[in-house]
Amino acid sequence: MYDIAIVGAGPAGATLARLLASRYQVLLIDRRDLAHQASPGAITKCCGGLLAPDAQKVLAELGLGLPEEVLVGPQLFVVRTIDLDQSYERYYQRFYVNIDREKFDRWLVSLVPDSVTRCFGTTLCGYQSEQGEITLTLQQAGSRWQEKARFLVGADGANSLVRRQATTTAMHLRQYVAIQERFRVEQPMPYFTALFASRVTDFYGWTIPKRNELLVGVALKPGRQAESLFQDFKLRLLRYGLSWGERTRREGAFLLRPQANQPLPVLGGVALVGEAAGWISPSSAEGVSYALRSAMMLADSLQPGLAGALGRYQKATGRLRLNLLGKNLKSPAMYNPQLRTLAMRSGLLSVKVRSTN
Ligand SMILES: Cc1cc2nc3c(=O)[nH]c(=O)nc-3n(C[C@H](O)[C@H](O)[C@H](O)COP(=O)(O)OP(=O)(O)OC[C@H]3O[C@@H](n4cnc5c(N)ncnc54)[C@H](O)[C@@H]3O)c2cc1C
Repeated sequence: MYDIAIVGAGPAGATLARLLASRYQVLLIDRRDLAHQASPGAITKCCGGLLAPDAQKVLAELGLGLPEEVLVGPQLFVVRTIDLDQSYERYYQRFYVNIDREKFDRWLVSLVPDSVTRCFGTTLCGYQSEQGEITLTLQQAGSRWQEKARFLVGADGANSLVRRQATTTAMHLRQYVAIQERFRVEQPMPYFTALFASRVTDFYGWTIPKRNELLVGVALKPGRQAESLFQDFKLRLLRYGLSWGERTRREGAFLLRPQANQPLPVLGGVALVGEAAGWISPSSAEGVSYALRSAMMLADSLQPGLAGALGRYQKATGRLRLNLLGKNLKSPAMYNPQLRTLAMRSGLLSVKVRSTN
């Protein structure tokens, strides 16, 4: 019997496990094999791998600095914003840290003390809750078994099974599907590109350089049309003048875009952290800072004991809800085509970038 079972060892789950290790018997489960470097063909997290200033701030609050091997060139100082509807672009100064997301996750896991029991390469298939005892059904390479815990945390990301099982009521978290491909390039572009194309999506697309590769992705409404919209999106980028070589990888993931009142940190007697709860920016899809911050909030709420922890966590996350409200209020300036055109044409806060050719 564990005190706490955490499903998901992404940034939220790994951070929570680390912060709780000295106080509780913790079981940390992930379907990825996070104990080793990702082998070719392994399940990896589909992500842009940019650490925004908010994420940098939480890392600082956690007393952490990034090891060199997590960084990936080029480091980026501007966002190139392209409105494909208007064939118009501007550059804006931003301070991201460009990282290898898989290495980042494995580094966070390497900080988890040995007293935490790790169950990697293991999938949660479901759980049952009875009289304060939670029974988890786990699966690894065809064999199934059960583990028990007194407290369950869902840190299992956008498509959280813990969240889906915790309620019989349909959840109305706005959900997108992100499709992302990696291409070889000769010269890495020295910027992150944010792309708006209203015929393709009411959210946005991106290109992000990683060493000699370029990530090309877009967040789309889920459905059968997603694939053809992705192809249309790439075609529009090529017509706009972007170019890339051979494709090396294709990946996809669900992505949440919550309204301010939508995140559910506590549901059916379990706690949810990170994107499983709906903690992610609805304007930029930046989720790492929310994953780390919500894990810190739950860890603090659990320090006095398991009793009352859910109530304390629910209360503590009021601040995150306010933060999401702010992001939702900011969204129209980015996603309303008329307002965006006005903002971009004004040139306000933009930076002039000389061509390097
Ligand atoms: C395409 C894309 C690009 C993004 N780019 C950025 C970016 O550049 N910067 C940024 O800050 N955010 C970005 N985000 C958002 C960010 O990736 C997430 O919000 C963040 O990873 C959430 O962290 P988490 O720990 O809550 O969940 P995750 O990182 O999703 O971790 C969940 C973990 O749970 C495990 N898991 C899931 N289900 C099960 C199960 N049934 N059994 C066992 N294990 C399970 C998974 O293997 C995974 O390790 C992006 C998201 C997408 C989709």
